[in-house]
Amino acid sequence: MSAAVSGNTGIMETPIATTTHAAVLHAPGASTGDRLTIEKRSLPPLRAGEVLIAVRACGVCRTDLQIVEGALPPHRSPVVPGHQIVGTVEARGSGVNLALGARVGVSWLGGTDGTCRFCHEGRENLCDAPQFTGYDVDGGYATRAIVRADFAYPLPDELDDVHAAPLLCAGVIGFHALRTASVQPGERVGLYGFGASAHLALPVLAHWGCPVYVATRGENHRAFAKQLGAAWVGGEAERPPEALDRAITFAPSGDVVIAALGALRKGGVVAINAIHLDRIPQFDYDSLLWGEREIRSVANMTRDDARTFLALAATIGIRPEATVFPLARVNDALRAVKDDSLNGAAVIAMDLAR
Ligand SMILES: [Zn+2]
Ligand SMILES: [Zn+2]
Repeated sequence: MSAAVSGNTGIMETPIATTTHAAVLHAPGASTGDRLTIEKRSLPPLRAGEVLIAVRACGVCRTDLQIVEGALPPHRSPVVPGHQIVGTVEARGSGVNLALGARVGVSWLGGTDGTCRFCHEGRENLCDAPQFTGYDVDGGYATRAIVRADFAYPLPDELDDVHAAPLLCAGVIGFHALRTASVQPGERVGLYGFGASAHLALPVLAHWGCPVYVATRGENHRAFAKQLGAAWVGGEAERPPEALDRAITFAPSGDVVIAALGALRKGGVVAINAIHLDRIPQFDYDSLLWGEREIRSVANMTRDDARTFLALAATIGIRPEATVFPLARVNDALRAVKDDSLNGAAVIAMDLAR
């Protein structure tokens, strides 16, 4: 045990435990096996600008699965995945303005350099030296995590722990995708794929008066989209009855991108919300892209996306579907995401034993 000194007040803060129970990835591989092992680890002392978070819940993202399976090359090994963290501030490094006990959310963008051209242009999602939570630094599949305070967002009371967690990546990046696609109020918007991210984008679109066209495989996802108010639902390769103004693709499949492109009006935009895509197949320029149709990629998120989306989620009452797993079943949660067997999101809820 050690005592932390607050840089703001000079007052000694409550001594804190410096251990965590964490789900650790030592070597990526197929998630059919249990890749993560629960281990008790000690945590380093806090540096300036950092906070120690007592984790209450952490959402499971498809990106975590890609890290665990090695589709994304390792950035740090071993690593604790998890980047949709809800927790409370348990201790603070110097120069931190968050209050002790504050309930905060932490997302995929865990830090930027603040100095590159993209940071200066307000496009910190494209930062040259980003720090991703649960990839470059240890994340939230743990009872405690250390994060940068300036990348932790105080959470509105309307959002409870389990239902706030999936908002932090799936929701925020889905919202960034709506912005990247330049969606305007009232426009016809296609969502290709209907997992954790898409089902959180739908209520935002409904709030903006946009009819939503959902193209997805899986009868249960189609029924879910209908239940949430989609104007049309169909298969991935099916053409919606009207031409779309915007489309966002969520599946890691280039075929889906081309299907979405085929549904656009002239001047329409497809935004690809996938960190990894199998390939882009050859396609016919004359019929699919000509007419100033555009394909854009969606990269990461900004803090403004997070703050704006979380406030919107609280105001319009976005409540994600969530299936809760204890930390001990984190590998089952990853497999459930892989199998696409859940409607909505998987969330790891920490028990109180730390
Ligand atoms: Zn930067
Ligand atoms: Zn994510």
